[in-house]
Amino acid sequence: MNVPYDCLVIGAGLAGAVAARELAERGGMRVLVLERRNHIAGNAYDPADESGVIIHQYGPHIFHTRDRRVFDYLSRFTRWRNYQHRVVANVHGVEMPVPFNLTSLEMAYGPERAAALEKKLLAAYGAETKVTILDLRRSEDPEIKALADYVYEHIFLHYTMKQWDQSPEEIDPNTTARVPVFLSRDDRYFQDPWQGMPLEGYTALFRKMLDHPNITVELGVDARTRMTLDAAGVRLDGAPFPGLVVYTGAVDELFDCRFGRLPYRTLEFQFETHPVDFYQSHGTVNYTVSEPWTRITEFKYLTGQDLPGVTTIAKEISHAYTGAAGETPYYPIISPDNQALYARYEALTRNLGRFYLLGRLAEYKYYNMDAIVARALALCDDLLQRKE
Ligand code: FAD
Ligand code: UDP
Repeated sequence: MNVPYDCLVIGAGLAGAVAARELAERGGMRVLVLERRNHIAGNAYDPADESGVIIHQYGPHIFHTRDRRVFDYLSRFTRWRNYQHRVVANVHGVEMPVPFNLTSLEMAYGPERAAALEKKLLAAYGAETKVTILDLRRSEDPEIKALADYVYEHIFLHYTMKQWDQSPEEIDPNTTARVPVFLSRDDRYFQDPWQGMPLEGYTALFRKMLDHPNITVELGVDARTRMTLDAAGVRLDGAPFPGLVVYTGAVDELFDCRFGRLPYRTLEFQFETHPVDFYQSHGTVNYTVSEPWTRITEFKYLTGQDLPGVTTIAKEISHAYTGAAGETPYYPIISPDNQALYARYEALTRNLGRFYLLGRLAEYKYYNMDAIVARALALCDDLLQRKE
């Protein structure tokens, strides 16, 4: 039988695009990519809106990594705009750096008390160190404990309740650990050595990555209308598909949610265009004590787009994902129960032969973009080694 493809990749987000490129280029395989949206780039998609402002349609994406291989790999497909992301929290109208740092400390406590607290903190944890809010709250020093309670109340509690509908103690501790208290005056959101934005945007990066003679991309196609799974394995358009399958969608959907839906948080993005050069002071302002939204991002800061007299912002409002049409599952909710449910679905894919789950949805993990690239490269290393 003549099957025109060696490999089926489902999803043209970062996981799918890197896997497709590697299998096509390094593996010499003919790859079919099916994407259900009408565009490539997954959640990193960055079109211009009606006013000509470049936006991130599915939320602000800032690239950052400590992984040289990942940075070098993506640099094959883009040049970079040097952008160091800075975020402030709006605390009752006062804007203080997030992660909460020594500058935030001064803003919260005034110079004198801040100097005394800084001394204590540096003695306890060391200069330029990062301490998670949950660890800081375990301090037995009453003054440090009081500071930790201040940071908890003004930076973490309400934001986390809005984002997850759970308190910082209830969610996976790795989540708040992403934004530790930083005993430094470095007010950047990330300290990774390589960070920035693709000079011509993410979509252009993806276009280059997918531009390979062995890759065919079909947009607006839900793979479930073309691929079926049964005891014998995978079928594509009704015929047995003997090739490799890399699946980057939600794993419960593959099996019609037969054990129940995997829980996710979804986001509602409220885009607003304003007739001003800039709307706010920073690329992102977090609303940590007030407002129904968690944060507002102003895209011109991120993209560096030079467009006077107009700007677009997005407010993010988080909800429980219900699976309704038009909703996107954005954040897996990491918990022992949910990981156990995920494991039941994952087990069903093991009978499918050369079928691999890859990406934020398929692996049900809270991955940043660089982690996805690293995962995709590692999977392809493994698959291509097996082929040799
Ligand atoms: P996705 O980008 O979700 O791609 C999966 C693709 O598969 C989608 O295009 C989907 O339409 C498609 N698909 C699913 N099911 C099917 C199907 N049945 N048939 C066909 N196609 C299907 N990371 C950072 O490093 N920096 C950031 O600043 C950052 N900000 C973020 C902000 C938000 C609001 C969110 C939600 C995430 C952010 N991330 C950030 C994480 C980043 O989005 C992910 O790491 C990355 O997008 C994951 O890539 P992926 O390919 O796994 O998933
Ligand atoms: N967080 C918070 N206040 C902030 C920033 C972050 O409470 O001002 C917590 C919140 O629980 C959030 C988590 O830290 O979900 C991770 O934040 P990050 O900015 O990394 O989230 P993402 O950009 O992935 O949405």
